[in-house]
Amino acid sequence: MSGPKVPTAQIVAIGTELVLGRIQDTNSFWLSQQLSDLGADVRRITVLPDVLDEVIPVLQGAAEAGTDFVVITGGLGPTPDDLTVEALATWLGETTYQEPSLLEDYMRRRQVGADGLSDGMRKMATVPESAIVWASPAGWAPCIQINRDRTAFFVLPGPPREMEALFDRYVATAISESLEVKSAARRVFVNMSESEVSPFIEEAMAQLPGLYAKAYVALRTDTHMPVDFVARAGSDRDARRLLSDAVDRFSADVKALGKDIHY
Ligand code: ATP
Ligand code: MG
Repeated sequence: MSGPKVPTAQIVAIGTELVLGRIQDTNSFWLSQQLSDLGADVRRITVLPDVLDEVIPVLQGAAEAGTDFVVITGGLGPTPDDLTVEALATWLGETTYQEPSLLEDYMRRRQVGADGLSDGMRKMATVPESAIVWASPAGWAPCIQINRDRTAFFVLPGPPREMEALFDRYVATAISESLEVKSAARRVFVNMSESEVSPFIEEAMAQLPGLYAKAYVALRTDTHMPVDFVARAGSDRDARRLLSDAVDRFSADVKALGKDIHY
């Protein structure tokens, strides 16, 4: 049985403060959960400084790998160190322009005329020629989508609240509409050691295509180890069915060994 085609994704977090260890890259952690829940197969997470020569090869590499979705965060701000748009435009060989709908949105929200727009505001409205642009419900920097060959790049601002609002409103919708894959996930707890549990997990993954399972040894307490099941299939119903098959099967194996399982 071959399952549905699973789209691939990459996450790129851009910010010198991230590679300096001043700010923790929580965006990628959050995005990897969201993308996995949507049914995408996240293949890589890259953290980069605000440096053109570091960013451009990663964009190129993601496109060359035929990645379906690349979600980029950071570097969309008004300050000169924010150069994600410049990196994209340089890589694409495109010029940039100031998107009129964003400028109008800023003028309305700031209650100013065109001459009242700061250089910073104009910079945040600047996008590559081929960009699809969505205004932010939570801040100033927009979400930018660029389609290049078979890859859709989504660029989001760095502040987590703005990033999450734009992802939920636009990116999740765009991705789930184009996906033929649905996903369902569940965590259970067992009073077993890693060596007792891993044959069951390997067997379940071998028998049930579309299933991913993992025991979290590092999160174990004296009595309980968490085990995650993630099922991917062509519809929500099939994903849920695969998940319940997997959990039932695992639960029967655990009980046959005289161990406990909690949900
Ligand atoms: P702006 O500069 O206008 O705030 P921006 O899109 O350029 O927006 P950054 O300058 O890169 O975003 O970051 C803005 C804020 O978001 C900073 O406080 C930064 O530390 C935080 N931030 C950026 N990237 C991440 C990330 N990957 N995880 C968590 N926080 C982040
Ligand atoms: Mg930045």
